[in-house]
Amino acid sequence: MISLEAVYSAADQIRGVADNTPMVPSAYLSRRSGTDFLLKLENTQSIGAFKLRGAWNAIAKLPADCNGVTCCSTGNHGRAVAFAAAQRGMQAVICMSELVPQAKIDGIKALGGKIRIVGRSQDDAQVESTRLVAEEGLVEIPPFDHPDVISAQGTIALEMLAARPDIKTILVPMSGGGLAAGVAMTAKALSSDVKVIGISMDQGAAMHQSLQAGKPVAVDEAPSLADSLGGGVGLNNQFSFALCQRYLDQTILVTEEEIRDAMQVLFFEDRIVAEGACVVGIAAFMSGKLPNPDGPVATIITGRNLDMHMFLDLMAGKDVRLGETIVKGRRYAG
Ligand SMILES: *Cc1c(COP(=O)(O)O)cnc(C)c1O
Repeated sequence: MISLEAVYSAADQIRGVADNTPMVPSAYLSRRSGTDFLLKLENTQSIGAFKLRGAWNAIAKLPADCNGVTCCSTGNHGRAVAFAAAQRGMQAVICMSELVPQAKIDGIKALGGKIRIVGRSQDDAQVESTRLVAEEGLVEIPPFDHPDVISAQGTIALEMLAARPDIKTILVPMSGGGLAAGVAMTAKALSSDVKVIGISMDQGAAMHQSLQAGKPVAVDEAPSLADSLGGGVGLNNQFSFALCQRYLDQTILVTEEEIRDAMQVLFFEDRIVAEGACVVGIAAFMSGKLPNPDGPVATIITGRNLDMHMFLDLMAGKDVRLGETIVKGRRYAG
């Protein structure tokens, strides 16, 4: 079900909509690492993140008379589902709790999604999404644990290795592991000597902890600069966990300070605005947790949807508050 053929067929499905993002060398990181250090710019996707690949592929395969789709992601997956459904003329109902910030609601509405606000937690939102499936015949589009989603995320590796077949190390930001599973499976099918490393923040790294435990486990969530990497892998995980277990060479965790520093490197050196989630690969390298990776090295800059006022504070060296915790400011000094 999830094979290289499925990845090629996903590539056909997403062509012209969610494919062919640029991959550029970082002059600074190449100098620091002594090898080509490449950035695959998924932040240039129309909805601002790679999740359009998976959502588009899954929604494109639904019958035209389907009643619409639903999901309960408030982040990049919700945006991708809203956009893809609107393009197909289907309704998308994005379920969220009343704690979700207005900016996220507005963003999804602007992409054509309908919003259903229920309860005060993600679990309440999930109950509503499940009800819409059972009672109104909507189709739920999962954010990572679905063959069409994983195959489409794998198209990123197709593009990377088509452009640079000599890539030896791929650094992949990891949450539910749909991206890591698709990229690792595809890269290993195309190249015999590429290593794929999954990277998360050190608090609430669900896939990392599940891999350590040998089965999907629940984790306590903590606020993070890499908010797109939060959330669990699902205790009934069907696909992404087993694929990550089979195909990832290693996982690495990085701290909030290391994420802050890597966001500054990407901004000041490469002039790129990106979410904390995107820079964990750079953070793993810069922090010395991945000494002397085999080159060429490539990482995926997964998205750009973040609070710009928070971002500007962080770039200016100011402290940033995330829920209860504070990430100390540090002025970038090269
Ligand atoms: C969803 C997401 C990830 C992680 O993807 P998974 O498939 O859940 O591991 C990484 N970065 C960004 C910006 C995302 O939106």
